[in-house]
Amino acid sequence: MPTRMCVCCRRKGEKDSFFRVAQKDKKYVFDKEMKIQARGFYVCKTKECIEKLSKNKKYDIEIQYLVKMLENIEKNNIIDILKPMKNSKFFAFGIDENINYIKKEKVKLVVIPRDINKKYIEEFLRLQEKYSINIIFIEKKEEFIKLFMRDVNVVGIFDKKVIKGILKKL
Ligand SMILES: [Zn+2]
Repeated sequence: MPTRMCVCCRRKGEKDSFFRVAQKDKKYVFDKEMKIQARGFYVCKTKECIEKLSKNKKYDIEIQYLVKMLENIEKNNIIDILKPMKNSKFFAFGIDENINYIKKEKVKLVVIPRDINKKYIEEFLRLQEKYSINIIFIEKKEEFIKLFMRDVNVVGIFDKKVIKGILKKL
């Protein structure tokens, strides 16, 4: 596997972990599909490196392409963040359990699929106002079932430090 390198931070890695910029008719353009048959270079898919690139006088890349790149940065997904800790003791599963723990101010972050019964979502939104908890929505309950190998509607997270870490990554 040939490695590529970011022109900004000189990180090396596989092609997929970078954006490609191609030099087309003396202009630099974002080669999103990596198909432009022209000389080019690579940049990390991070805000930091794209910002550095925008200040690099050697590569005069148009603002519209920089914006496109920023738009294409993949956001961290909550499921991916929870994955490595799925067997930990920091989770509370289920609607009633989480409501209880929120009222005891033990759970401060809940992850809720949008496809559960609306009345539960409304209840958690009310609890959010009263207990100032954080709510993160995922699209489908199925994502939980795949991750935890069990039928869960709502997942709450206990530990303050763990919650801080999760919110930082999002
Ligand atoms: Zn970089």
